[in-house]
Amino acid sequence: MSASSPSPSGGPLVEGPRDPEHEPGATYALEPEYVASLTRRLVATSGEESPVFSPLDGAPLAHVPQSSDGDVAEAFARARRAQQAWSRTSLDQRAAMMLRLHDLVLDRQDEITDLIVLESGKARKHAFDETLHVAMTARYYARTAHRHLDTRRHPGVVPGLTRVDVNRVPKGVVGIISPWNYPFTMALCDGLPALVAGNAVVAKPDAQTMLSALLGAQLLEEAGFPAELWQVVAGPGSRVGTGIVERADYVCFTGSTATGRLVAHGCAERLIGCSLELGGKNPMLVLRDADLERAAEGAVRATFSNAGQLCVSVERLFVADQVYDRFVERFVARTEAMTLGATLGWDNDMGSLISQAQLDAVVHHVEEAVAKGARVLTGGRARPDLGPYMFEPTILEGVTPDMACFQDETFGPVVSLYRFHDEADAVARANEGEYGLNAAIYSQDGARARAIARHVKAGTVNINEAFGATFASIDAPMGGMRQSGVGRRQGAEGILRYTETQSVATQRLMPIAPVLGLSDERFAKVMTANLRLLKKLGRA
Ligand code: NAD
Repeated sequence: MSASSPSPSGGPLVEGPRDPEHEPGATYALEPEYVASLTRRLVATSGEESPVFSPLDGAPLAHVPQSSDGDVAEAFARARRAQQAWSRTSLDQRAAMMLRLHDLVLDRQDEITDLIVLESGKARKHAFDETLHVAMTARYYARTAHRHLDTRRHPGVVPGLTRVDVNRVPKGVVGIISPWNYPFTMALCDGLPALVAGNAVVAKPDAQTMLSALLGAQLLEEAGFPAELWQVVAGPGSRVGTGIVERADYVCFTGSTATGRLVAHGCAERLIGCSLELGGKNPMLVLRDADLERAAEGAVRATFSNAGQLCVSVERLFVADQVYDRFVERFVARTEAMTLGATLGWDNDMGSLISQAQLDAVVHHVEEAVAKGARVLTGGRARPDLGPYMFEPTILEGVTPDMACFQDETFGPVVSLYRFHDEADAVARANEGEYGLNAAIYSQDGARARAIARHVKAGTVNINEAFGATFASIDAPMGGMRQSGVGRRQGAEGILRYTETQSVATQRLMPIAPVLGLSDERFAKVMTANLRLLKKLGRA
């Protein structure tokens, strides 16, 4: 594994040296006016500030004003006012703004990816994935708004006499609580269908990556959405996140299973709905008929994208006995050929972890496993020479249930290899544990792999791909089974969660009651005959 020589990205916002390798000890910085143009979007009058650090060099990138409890209340008051007017706009108007957002995100991709890399430390290609995901989500919900939201006619109780319309009514103000690992798309993409469905949003991004989320809010405004419709608050989850749960009409939470449980509890107290996109310990199966080059290439992306800080990342790799040695040889070789670096350029295959805390957690998982007998096939070391929180992509063998990395989410570039003899056994082992987010299966027999997928307890299963095939297919729902989540993002479920259904029935000519002097007893007989007839006619 080698360090890359970073290439300047050419984006407009960084002042000072762009290439710390050329000027040892130099740090990245943002123009104060640029930071101010982003933080003006915040409702934050507490007078307190919190630093955002860049994992590229560990130095402060900006200071972000913090929201008080009163600010969270004010954000909801503003959002509620804005939502009243917004709910009366047409779907076509909303869709047109979404399409403008699509274009803006593609036009401004250099600025967006610069900021994501500076704030998260990830490799540029993984930051670029975020711009793609936001653009695709915006276009999808713009193009499908009518399909999901138009009022639908349903059969009434008395055919011909009862007309039933089912409306999709916005919930009101949706609270979006998002994590740091995909700071641009996780802060934005769940909110886009909420806007299309006629809601306002109050967003609370993670404190470590506020700037990427604020750039998203700014782009929404530039795309034509009313500024007040998308409020952003800043502060610790335990206070500001709780403030969201106490006030929202619906909460969309993305983060750890432990916090998701707290959010669900708060929502249950208030009897409001929520969707929870949580953690995973995702398996990949390499069947005996897999194309091994393709599987090894996919395994690298499945395990080391964003340095493994990805909810759908693979941390357990089950490989058929017959191909185990040949697969491992290829997987290790490809991993060792990766270029590592904490820089802005395109050269890095893998970037940094987000923080010292994340690095400590990864080091703990690896050191504990090794102390208990696991073998490191490659990687296994922190690389402070490349960046303060860099850790090598790491492949372990011999991981056993007494080791933390056997079942606990590492959320880092660490994968455990296991052999299997028969596929039923592999599926049973893949299904162990409490999670059920994502899985990958490699086989040259698509039909057989799809049949196996039905037995895998995971909300998404990718065949001959790591995770992108499901994640980027926006029409397909995405989310977790078991402790990996409640509800789904994307597709119809991703937008209908932000609506209430309202059934409006119009009764024509006669009431649903005895008429023309019919007694109740006679009416009962007529209704009974009516029901038998409807069944004979095959009606629902
Ligand atoms: P986290 O749960 O610590 O934080 C997530 C968000 O919740 C942050 O904005 C945080 O400030 C906020 N928060 C913290 N305490 C809160 C509280 N009591 N009430 C309300 N909000 C609160 O998660 P994290 O460690 O920052 O993120 C990593 C986790 O997120 C991993 O487990 C990962 O698998 C998961 N994740 C899941 C998905 C998915 O789609 N399933 C996507 C990305 C990340």
